[in-house]
Parts: sequence; structure tokens; C-alpha cells
Amino acid sequence: MDIIGDLKKKIADLEELKDKLDQIEIDNMELEMFKKFTIDRLLADYSQKLEKMTYTKFTQRCDLCQRWTEETDPELKSIMICQVCIVNLPKTMTTNHAEPMWGLHVGKIKQDIDNDLLEEYINVGLIWKSGRYWLVHELVMQRHYERKLGYKRLEG
Ligand SMILES: [Zn+2]
Repeated sequence: MDIIGDLKKKIADLEELKDKLDQIEIDNMELEMFKKFTIDRLLADYSQKLEKMTYTKFTQRCDLCQRWTEETDPELKSIMICQVCIVNLPKTMTTNHAEPMWGLHVGKIKQDIDNDLLEEYINVGLIWKSGRYWLVHELVMQRHYERKLGYKRLEG
């Protein structure tokens, strides 16, 4: 049996023993002490060990942001993208795509880029150029066009 299976068996055995002892209704101080200090302590020890083992076994680094993540899925993947990155990845879109979504006229974002109105977003990488297209992150749309200028998201 592997070490994790062994620990699980030990925990199950101890719980069974505890159940049996609980059914004995005699006023026995030593038995109570045994239950409290031996069985409970062992159970806590084993559970902690088990938790640590299963925990380290399932941690993996996100290939994108390099943060350690706790995956409940024990299967190690060849490419691991954490939940935070999965949520944020599709939030970047071309300006042509974003403009109608927020009711901006075509070319508005490019115009604002040319007029240096979005410089702070370009500086932090929330707007960037890919070939001939400008890509813009949803956060720019929310902070600049929604919150600052009062546009509303119409679709999507
Ligand atoms: Zn990540």
C-alpha cells in the first residue's frame, strides 16, 4: 500500500476505535484521557500529514504567471494555466471588436491612442500593438470608457 493509502487506513482505524470506545459508557477517567490525548492527537497528526502530502502532490506552477497554484485535480497537466490567468486571458480584444461593444464609433480608441489619452494604459501593458492591430484589455474599457466617460457596455 502506498503511503497515502496507509495514512487513510490508519485514520479510518482510529475513527473506528474511537466510535467503539464512545459506546462504552463507564465512568472511567483513564479511558477518557486515553481518548482525548492519544486517539484525538494521533488523528490530528495523521490528518495533518495526509493534508500536507496531498497538498504538495497537487501543486503546480502556472506556466503563464509562474505562481504556485493549488489544483484540486490531482492530474498533472503538461500545460498548466491557473484560474486567475484563465479568467484574464480572453479579456484582451482588438479595438475593432471593443468599439461596437461599448457603443464607440469605429476608430475611436485608435484616435484616443493617437491623441495620447490612453498613455497610462499603454505604459502598463493594458493596450498594446500586435502587428497592425491594437489590442485593448477589458479593464481599459471599464475604467476609461465606462467609469470616466460614461459609456455603457452594450453586448457580450
Ligand atoms: Zn497564472
